[in-house]
Amino acid sequence: MNDVLVIGAGGVSSVAVHKMAKNPDLFGKVTLASRRRFKCDAIAKSVHERFGVEIATAEVDADDVDATARLIDQVKPKLLVNLALPYQDLNLMEACLKTGVDYLDTANYEPRDEAKFEYGWQWAYQDRFKAAGLMALLGSGFDPGVTSVFAMHIKKHLLQTIETLDILDCNGGDHGQHFATNFNPEINIREVTAPARHWENGQWVETPALSERQVFIFDQVGAKNMYLMYHEELESLVKFIPELQRARFWMTFGEQYLTHLRVLENVGMTSIEPVLYEGREVIPLQFLKAVLPEPSTLGETTKGKTNIGDIATGRTAEGEQKTFYVYNVCDHEDAYAETGNQAVSYTTGVPAMIGAALMLNGTWRGEGVFNIEQLDPDPFMAMLNKHGLPWQVKELPEPLRF
Ligand code: NDP
Repeated sequence: MNDVLVIGAGGVSSVAVHKMAKNPDLFGKVTLASRRRFKCDAIAKSVHERFGVEIATAEVDADDVDATARLIDQVKPKLLVNLALPYQDLNLMEACLKTGVDYLDTANYEPRDEAKFEYGWQWAYQDRFKAAGLMALLGSGFDPGVTSVFAMHIKKHLLQTIETLDILDCNGGDHGQHFATNFNPEINIREVTAPARHWENGQWVETPALSERQVFIFDQVGAKNMYLMYHEELESLVKFIPELQRARFWMTFGEQYLTHLRVLENVGMTSIEPVLYEGREVIPLQFLKAVLPEPSTLGETTKGKTNIGDIATGRTAEGEQKTFYVYNVCDHEDAYAETGNQAVSYTTGVPAMIGAALMLNGTWRGEGVFNIEQLDPDPFMAMLNKHGLPWQVKELPEPLRF
């Protein structure tokens, strides 16, 4: 009855499917389908070896709405979990509408030929999902996902209004490679090389990519350089926490990563404009992806921890100004031992599993398209503690001074 169809067979999907198999009380039959079936079979084999659970596998091009709809009709899941790429979001939402199945994803839609991502395209499906009595849950990863739920936890339990919000994403892990990205290289590089944007006093402020740097001391990781970036949850958080005066997103990068990225950018390898090579159109960034290590292969060598969280300053019900920091620390080697994947995949795959479980058991229910911050944070926060992403809350003596 609680059967799911998972689309995509990368690192995030691998973690989510391992976690689904580990929780048979929450999930029925799990079917895993992707562009190349052998990748699904490899995940199914690992799940079977670890937990003795069978995962059904299939091949599907998620850009083909009719093919996906045919697969859904065969599998008859209650929920489709989209862990493919942001390019597939709209086609998979169409397939869900066609077959009457709920939808969940971890990243907002991005057109292939434009380095631009925003929720507008998916929010436009609100009326159709509502009319069909279906639910679409957007952004059930870590960021977006857990960071949005952390903000709503602060708003529900610690502060009545949030004036400033800073999301701090630190990966203190070392994979031992000269240059690799921790999730899909194409999506990652498009995100990092885009101009930074933050919300301030009712408008977006744009600054050049990677131009604003701060040093922050992360619990269990240490001091790291972090850079101001645009990240998709800012768009929905500003909408659902309308009193926000400032919202920013920071991500840590090491010098080696940035030096490689600068060189690749300077020689044109991060471009998404097609170039003609030996009579054939090639997109440099897609070619670069093909020569970089696959994120799902980094688990074995990655050591260290991630630390991702929210710092919010606002007013309590009594009108007192306070600052709270809610964060999770995740160990790359522990994540690998449990699921065969490093912590960046783990911190995304676990929240995808939790969001799916809450939809399947009806704890999170609604008709239409929902961002994760529109739903009650409490059951999700409780499940994070239970399923490998424990969080902690600290009250800071003062707001962030930068
Ligand atoms: P990967 O590139 O490792 O995996 C993506 C998978 O999708 C691959 O198996 C790929 O197939 C498959 N795929 C691509 N195109 C199609 C298609 N047309 N039809 C069917 N399958 C397809 O990425 P990750 O696992 O690192 O990331 C997965 C998703 O999670 C991405 O959308 C990413 O943006 C998101 N993410 C979200 C985060 C968050 O915190 N919210 C953090 C990290 C990632 P193949 O293997 O054949 O190439």
